[in-house]
Amino acid sequence: MTLSLSLSLSLSLCVCVCVCVCVWQVLLVFAKDDAQSNSFCWACERAGFRCNVARTPEAALESFQEKNHDLIIMDHRHSRYFDAEALCRYVYSTCVCVSVVTQRYVENSNMMSCYNELIQLHHGEIRAQIKLRACNAVFTALEQSQEAIEISSEDQIIQYVNPAYECIMGYQRGELLKENTEVPKSEQNKPDLLDNISSCLRRGKEWQGVYYAKKKNGDSVQQNVKMTPVVGQGGWCVRECVCSGVLMCRCCGCVSDIQQSSKHKDRRKGSLDVRSTTSRGSDAGSSQRRHSSMARIHSMTIEAPITKVINIINAAQESSPMPVAEALDRVLEILRTTELYSPQLGTKEEDPHTNDLVGGLMTDGLRRLSGNEYILATKQLHHIPGHLTTPLSLNDIPPCIAQTMENEDSWDFDIFNLESATMKRPLTYLGLKIFSRFGVCEFLSCPEATLRSWLQIIEANYHSSNSYHNSTHAADVLHATAYFLCKERVKQSLDPIDEVAALIAATVHDVDHPGRTNSFLCNAGSELAILYNDTAVLESHHAALAFQITTRDDKCNIFKNMERNEYRTLRQAVIDMVLATEMTKHFEHVNKFVNSINKPLAALEENGSILTAPENRILVKRMLIKCADISNPCRPLELCIEWAGRISEEYFAQTDEEKQQGLPVVMPVFDRNTCSIPKSQISFIDYFITDMFDAWDAFADLPNLMQHLDNNFKYWKSLDEKKLHSLRPPPE
Ligand code: AMP
Ligand code: ZN
Repeated sequence: MTLSLSLSLSLSLCVCVCVCVCVWQVLLVFAKDDAQSNSFCWACERAGFRCNVARTPEAALESFQEKNHDLIIMDHRHSRYFDAEALCRYVYSTCVCVSVVTQRYVENSNMMSCYNELIQLHHGEIRAQIKLRACNAVFTALEQSQEAIEISSEDQIIQYVNPAYECIMGYQRGELLKENTEVPKSEQNKPDLLDNISSCLRRGKEWQGVYYAKKKNGDSVQQNVKMTPVVGQGGWCVRECVCSGVLMCRCCGCVSDIQQSSKHKDRRKGSLDVRSTTSRGSDAGSSQRRHSSMARIHSMTIEAPITKVINIINAAQESSPMPVAEALDRVLEILRTTELYSPQLGTKEEDPHTNDLVGGLMTDGLRRLSGNEYILATKQLHHIPGHLTTPLSLNDIPPCIAQTMENEDSWDFDIFNLESATMKRPLTYLGLKIFSRFGVCEFLSCPEATLRSWLQIIEANYHSSNSYHNSTHAADVLHATAYFLCKERVKQSLDPIDEVAALIAATVHDVDHPGRTNSFLCNAGSELAILYNDTAVLESHHAALAFQITTRDDKCNIFKNMERNEYRTLRQAVIDMVLATEMTKHFEHVNKFVNSINKPLAALEENGSILTAPENRILVKRMLIKCADISNPCRPLELCIEWAGRISEEYFAQTDEEKQQGLPVVMPVFDRNTCSIPKSQISFIDYFITDMFDAWDAFADLPNLMQHLDNNFKYWKSLDEKKLHSLRPPPE
């Protein structure tokens, strides 16, 4: 007795080429269960094949049409049930198959022989069929692809073009597939480009670059081309190149075989005429439009640097050993998908202080609750109060104030002393002294009186009611900036204009700060958040207001006598530095500094060019003002404690107001009833300060700051270990 085994290899027309060669599908057509059918069922299970059983020819066809089985086993022993040969013929005629192979199997219900039979079929005959099927599926994908595809032999004779190629290039296949037609070339390509391409491909290397292809109407079209030579079996040379959506595959004989398939000839007819394709209706029209959009995208000559980086890595991957290629895969994944400069915080269970600080300082709004509009009182700009117009020049500074500023060039200078001596106007006095030390008036060609007025009006626009963001903080940042500007490496890299810009930026960097964070302003729908689209709200305001105040009145316009271009350069530098104090960009600035400055400096003997490159000078200035701005954890312990108390108080006041106004509480840990200040300082230092100052110290050499930072950190730790929440231990 014999059974018919019909091996039908169905062709998937799916363009995404989802030919599954892993799980084989088997259809058993047996009118009744018996030992033979049971053995085949068992064998399928054992071999890991998926098995369906049909009892009638109709059920078999229905099942086959649904699942496209790879193997059909029909019971040919009892013609009274059904005609197996007719069923075979039907399978031949109905399915879109690459091939159908029929074999006979002599009845043997031994399970192992059924199993062996299946395995043999799977490994023998079927393998080749599967390869053919895969080839066919790939070919189908090429035909259906919206990318234009060209296949040519090694000597540039066209072997194949797909319908999309016809559409884009305007040729008809028939014209190109005539004997010995060469790939059309545009004269706009430099001759050495074509030589370079061929020599590259001959060496087995991929080529990628901009290439002019020639369309049928004679136009040259600029395309971004990638050509990959692929060496095939038996000395065949397969080359592949993707060019602005044109995949050119210089290929071997198997391509010609594919072209001879009558089915494809038929399909070719349908797409030979571009006009007929486009006039076929809206689908065809939109696909045509997509072709040209894709072509435009591919031929974009303006490439973002990240695209170049990704292309370079892609190219490096091809010639890299497996572990390197895999590592590069991970690199690409990060480059393509990740916010590059923001470290990813772990889970929410991590330290709530860190979470809140990060949430509070590193996010803008975009979490605004509706119905919670909060408009800050429209602000009247401050004018210089009468009692502050006293100091006429440096020489007129009262001795008690001058005395407190004697050691202003030391890192341990006590800004709070100056705050009390000046009745909360330390910025004007310290500004006069520091600006004079750096010769700012000479640089700006401005009278000292103008500088004084400017300092006064800027200081008047700081809010003395803020516990932290008041003019003492600005004076502190100015002090730190001046200190850093005296460091050798900093001096080597910055020009006088950079120094002046840094001093001005430090002075104005928080002007008119409302004592609330960006997130708060965005959540509250404040006027400023609306004006600046919830983006770098405060920093944009500080920079803009500083220039408004300065240029509004000649009396305090320190830029008045500057040459226009110099003013523009200075203005740009000041704005850039003020914006750099925005904490959402913290890690971006620090990482860029480390990658572009710290690391190259550590690797090179000669560092002049690194220090003075314009793009690096910008990074140095940003890092300088950032470090000055949050240098309070590196100040002597008593000063550091005072700053921690002030910033905590400002955060507490914000939380109070958020609760009162029914706004989202941005930093819930900063609740005056529950907050552990030591913990918050530990988190702030751990997350924002340590790495940044390590990098800055490596550049500018600041052992005293690092020592203070270490001491201060230990201090906060010791309080925390004693479970204390306050700034200081209770008195003995
Ligand atoms: P700025 O508003 O320009 O002073 O930016 C610095 C940011 O760091 C501000 O949001 C401050 O609230 C924050 N900050 C500065 N010092 C501390 C500190 N000791 N603890 C917590 N946050 C701080
Ligand atoms: Zn600040």
